[in-house]
Amino acid sequence: MKDCIFCKIINKELPSDIIYEDEKVIAFKDINPQAPIHILICPKKHIETINDLKEEDKEIIGHLFLVAKKLAKDLNVDKRGYRIIVNCNKEGGQEIYHIHFHFLAGKPLGKLVC
Ligand code: 5GP
Ligand code: ZN
Repeated sequence: MKDCIFCKIINKELPSDIIYEDEKVIAFKDINPQAPIHILICPKKHIETINDLKEEDKEIIGHLFLVAKKLAKDLNVDKRGYRIIVNCNKEGGQEIYHIHFHFLAGKPLGKLVC
């Protein structure tokens, strides 16, 4: 998508600190980290929100979780713990309309507050 920041990161038109990449997924550091480890895990396919997911996207969403699991092990936070968040639309706090997991770790994250 032409005006999507994450598509530009995926296409290397914008710089980012890439932690992991494969054919279908990219993971890079959040520019404004909310925890010592704050990584965004995105499908390379431009999907705007959870609401836009199709039956055919089942595999890619499963793949995002497997990448999260791998990052947790590689970064040695799998046993300590981590949190995955996906925001959807305005009241869900979504700012970038290219679906992504927030992978947060590295400190006690406490209860989710709303
Ligand atoms: P959302 O609010 O859409 O769930 O999350 C968007 C996230 O993208 C935010 O945590 C924000 O800090 C991050 N972000 C926004 N622009 C950029 C950017 O250009 N590069 C990187 N690495 N992260 C970004
Ligand atoms: Zn995009």
